[in-house]
Amino acid sequence: RIVYVNGAFVPEEDAKISVFDRGFLFADGVYEVSSVLDGKLVDNAGHMVRLHRSLNELDMAAPCSDEEIEAAQIKLIQDNHVVEGLVYLQVTRGAADRDFAYPKNVKPTLVMFTQSKPLLNDPTADNGISVVTLPDLRWGRRDIKTVGLLYPCMAKMEAKAKGANDAWLMDDNGFITEGTSNNAYIVTKDGIIVTRQLSNDILHGITRKAVLTIAKKANLKIEERPFTPAEVQNAQEAFFTSASAFVMPVVKIDGQDIANGKPGRITQQLREMYIKIAQNG
Ligand code: PMP
Repeated sequence: RIVYVNGAFVPEEDAKISVFDRGFLFADGVYEVSSVLDGKLVDNAGHMVRLHRSLNELDMAAPCSDEEIEAAQIKLIQDNHVVEGLVYLQVTRGAADRDFAYPKNVKPTLVMFTQSKPLLNDPTADNGISVVTLPDLRWGRRDIKTVGLLYPCMAKMEAKAKGANDAWLMDDNGFITEGTSNNAYIVTKDGIIVTRQLSNDILHGITRKAVLTIAKKANLKIEERPFTPAEVQNAQEAFFTSASAFVMPVVKIDGQDIANGKPGRITQQLREMYIKIAQNG
């Protein structure tokens, strides 16, 4: 596999990053994951906008222009023959002598790589996934897409140890924030789509934005507010969204089936509509 490091396209075994890189020492970096369908990037403009927001919030410089980034993403997709999968990109503040305070004018590090994987014919989307609720022990700026992902890794491992696929994280008031790497939704018995409103508590999902736009166009009712695990247990449907899984049905929470334990009608409709739009650019 060919990967990208600071302007160079190299075989992955030749890629090098300094041990002093602040991404490595402090998780002082941000990332984006764009999906690839039919060899083309999906909603990459949205990911670029969020990348700049994350960089701005951390007073970090962009490594190069958006055009250069996108050209490199496309070259990686071509060189690695990616038809379906992902392009991962990460910007860290760069290498500097180890100190919590960062010097100005460090040269940012930009790394990109691809992952080929089937996204459209995903058998988990036919059956849905199960989640368990766990306390959200991440930091208070979850709207910034940083590479500090240790707690989400721990939560995902704990979910798997409990026999579930993923964890839905809960704030101190008992409301669900989001999944370990996705935004969370229910559809109530009245057919209302409920998802937490944007704030510092959750990542502002690019797929969330697209799916809510699609739902509005389809005249579906939407409420942006926090919801509890009890509401999930009483819901008609549940699902999550992310760039890599699109719209994914959630059929079980904390060991209990949601409705009949099968993917819901509105969830499936949103998945189909999202994929159709993603494929047509
Ligand atoms: N929340 C978190 C914590 C995430 O890591 C992700 C995926 N990166 C999302 C939500 C979904 O965001 P997107 O739709 O932009 O992939």
